[in-house]
Amino acid sequence: MEDVIIIGAGIFGLSIARKLQKTGRDVQVFEASHVGAGASATPLGVLSPHAPDNWNEKKEAQFQALRSLPAHLDALEQETGLSAGYRRCGRLLPLTTENQRAIWTRRIKDARENWQGEASLEIVEPPADWLSPDMARFGAVRCGLSARINARAYLNALAASVGGERIHTGKTLERLEPQTAIFTDGSKVTAKDIIVASGTDAFRHLPDGANGEPAGRGEKGQAALFRLAQSDSENRPIVFFDGTYVVPRGDNIVALGATSERHFEDAHTTDALLDAKIDKARALCPALEGAEEIERWAALRPRAADRRLLVTPHPTLEGITIATGGFKTGLAMAHMLEV
Ligand SMILES: Cc1cc2nc3c(=O)[nH]c(=O)nc-3n(C[C@H](O)[C@H](O)[C@H](O)COP(=O)(O)OP(=O)(O)OC[C@H]3O[C@@H](n4cnc5c(N)ncnc54)[C@H](O)[C@@H]3O)c2cc1C
Repeated sequence: MEDVIIIGAGIFGLSIARKLQKTGRDVQVFEASHVGAGASATPLGVLSPHAPDNWNEKKEAQFQALRSLPAHLDALEQETGLSAGYRRCGRLLPLTTENQRAIWTRRIKDARENWQGEASLEIVEPPADWLSPDMARFGAVRCGLSARINARAYLNALAASVGGERIHTGKTLERLEPQTAIFTDGSKVTAKDIIVASGTDAFRHLPDGANGEPAGRGEKGQAALFRLAQSDSENRPIVFFDGTYVVPRGDNIVALGATSERHFEDAHTTDALLDAKIDKARALCPALEGAEEIERWAALRPRAADRRLLVTPHPTLEGITIATGGFKTGLAMAHMLEV
């Protein structure tokens, strides 16, 4: 019998694998396809806090995750020699009405209290070559707590830390029995602990909630990468407006997205909805003029019914834990998961 097996080599599976290894557990990871085959390879890599007003437990957890992430990534880089491309670049939110400006002026006070001096929130006149003045008629909010990460580099560093020989690719979990994983190739692995971190797929192992709804579902998201014709994106802030992100990634690469689709035919194809997102991003950011598209990408965000992280022992199967529900903030939260 194995000690611990983990299903899924996304950000959740690899983060949990590394954490358990550090406590002396012997961990093996089983992945249907390859490292980062799911949502975790998102080109966006935005790490941003919730609005600082109406503070609650969920906002505090997210804040603590953002606060602790740099030290976690430093340790990972020192161990593996691999950078996750983290940078606290800040985020601009254009203000389009007087009323929005008034709301955010109040939130600046909340940020002072709830962010405990970790970062500032302020209203600024944004640079006209990065955030269109037409969009920011009442200025812009600059959130100093927001950061970016290169999700694929983060996955690579985690995989290096866990050890390639412990990550078994091409192994698709079919079903579970107590302390047993049964794969589609007919093989069975037993373990003292099995952690199912297979993203959206993980929800199917849980019973429906009391209201008959599934424990969670996949919400499709599409995003794209562009290379800027000119202008250095290295030191620029993220821009966010009405569900559209422009994320500077360094080396003149910018990520744009993302759609949020409850209903879709194919989880992995991109279409006109992404084109519409790109148009919105172009209206936000003048530096995208003449930029060249270099990648289109789509995946399913694992969204729990109550939108929270879902880390729970299986209700009936001994030795099984389900860890999913990263939804839109999985990259920021993964290092905090406790199983
Ligand atoms: C368009 C888009 C943009 C996003 N942007 C951001 C962002 O900017 N910031 C942020 O924090 N979050 C973002 N997210 C959300 C984030 O990507 C997720 O919360 C996070 O990646 C979930 O990680 P996971 O490990 O649970 O799932 P996944 O990354 O999906 O990993 C699950 C893994 O399990 C494997 N698997 C599936 N089924 C099986 C099976 N039966 N057997 C074995 N293996 C299996 C898959 O191949 C995959 O590798 C975004 C998501 C999308 C789609």
